[in-house]
Amino acid sequence: MEQAGVNYLLEFTYLIASILFVFGLKGLSHPETARRGMFMAEAGMAAAIIGTLFHHGIITYTWIAAGLVIGSVIGALMAIWVPMTAMPQRTALSHAFGAFAAALVGVGEYILHGGPQMAVSTRSALGFEVMLGALTTTGSLIAAGKLQGVVRGTPVQFKGQQFVNLLLFGGMIGCFLYSVNYPTAQLYFYLMGALGLLFGVMLVIPIGSADMPVVMSLLNSYAGLASAATGFVLGNNVLIIAGTLDGFSGLILSILMCKAMNRSITNVLFGGFGAVHHAATEGVGGEMREISLDDAAVRLAYANKVVFVPGYGLATAQAQHACRELASALEERGVTVKYGIHPVAGRMPGHMNVLLAEANVPYSDLYEMDQINPEFPTTDVAVVVGANDVVNPDARDNPNSPIAGMPILEVDRAKSVIVLKRGQGRGFSGLENPLFFKQVTSMLYGDAKASLAHLAQEIKNV
Ligand code: NAP
Repeated sequence: MEQAGVNYLLEFTYLIASILFVFGLKGLSHPETARRGMFMAEAGMAAAIIGTLFHHGIITYTWIAAGLVIGSVIGALMAIWVPMTAMPQRTALSHAFGAFAAALVGVGEYILHGGPQMAVSTRSALGFEVMLGALTTTGSLIAAGKLQGVVRGTPVQFKGQQFVNLLLFGGMIGCFLYSVNYPTAQLYFYLMGALGLLFGVMLVIPIGSADMPVVMSLLNSYAGLASAATGFVLGNNVLIIAGTLDGFSGLILSILMCKAMNRSITNVLFGGFGAVHHAATEGVGGEMREISLDDAAVRLAYANKVVFVPGYGLATAQAQHACRELASALEERGVTVKYGIHPVAGRMPGHMNVLLAEANVPYSDLYEMDQINPEFPTTDVAVVVGANDVVNPDARDNPNSPIAGMPILEVDRAKSVIVLKRGQGRGFSGLENPLFFKQVTSMLYGDAKASLAHLAQEIKNV
């Protein structure tokens, strides 16, 4: 095929890919269309890869084939081996890979074409790409380590930390500006990259693991912007479009998560959340009342309305199918069943929606926080399935609580509450939960999946 024809084909596949990315993202904004959105985004990525194979700049396909094979094997192994509960750290690793790739492409371009012959705008985009790519790589690795528990989860803080960070940030930006203005000063370009790597570590270690999902979403945004900068350097439209979509959707998601926790981005990044909690929870105590499976089953069977409130424990126990089974058993007895979904229940946005959709819970049974909260006073039993922070009334009642102001599912306003959890474990924030000591609450200890399955069985026999 002639070169003009090849270029036309390339741009056409990039256009298709970009359209698929936009529709994919749109699909992801609603649980009902999320799966389709994901397929569209995957198809878009496949189109972008296939299109790139026609690029006139390709000298040999050997390295590309090697990269494809290695990348596909790593991706497939991660998909097979990484459990659903480890999805956040898996995503953090993917961000690290993406950002590292962007930084390497930037360094490669700099080695090949950097210097005075490169336009100032391209030099700036290249510097931006390497700087953001470097800090996102190490930041994401630390985030993955914190979530996996291999790096200390509580905030790592020391005296003068913010000053050190400011110095690092200033040094990195200084090197960036110098290397843009003095293109022969190569040392500053590489120093900028090294400072970026260090800054990524320093940026994330003072943040507690409870805030890692927000940090990851923010780093996702940086990785996207680094890719967009790569697109400018390489003159690649699909990278610019996909990177910008990624960058801004990550930013919007971070803001939405902060809103759901009633915190600001600056509080998440610099607040050291998770460091000092003991004073705030002092005074919370009393007696937790245990309930037997038989009694819980009877209470549920004779209820008019039951609201399930799932949390992270539902995910760890993989209890979504058992939950659906219990709900069906109750519905067969004429009980009205609803699900109350908190926007930050679990460990990633939409976590509960995905799990419940997997168990074929009808979307119409899922209620957002604002919709379900007014219904709790008329709810006979609120069943809390492995949720903790998102039902902590201290967020509403205790202005000294670190989670004060975070909107919660107000299960304590229900006529009775049954909490399913394994023991006395705390929520992700590390806070004690006064809900468990309230008169209205009964604790049903055990793995959520086993408890729900037993309850379903008992209900059928009542
Ligand atoms: P949570 O506060 O982390 O509590 C989970 C509870 O589940 C624990 O108390 C644990 O108690 C119980 N549990 C664990 N495994 C279990 C099992 N196999 N069976 C039964 N229970 C089990 O969860 P959450 O209420 O969903 O709150 C989410 C937290 O993540 C919030 O702090 C939120 O701010 C944070 N966060 C989430 C996002 C997001 O996007 N979703 C973003 C940012 C922050 P036991 O150990 O006693 O069983």
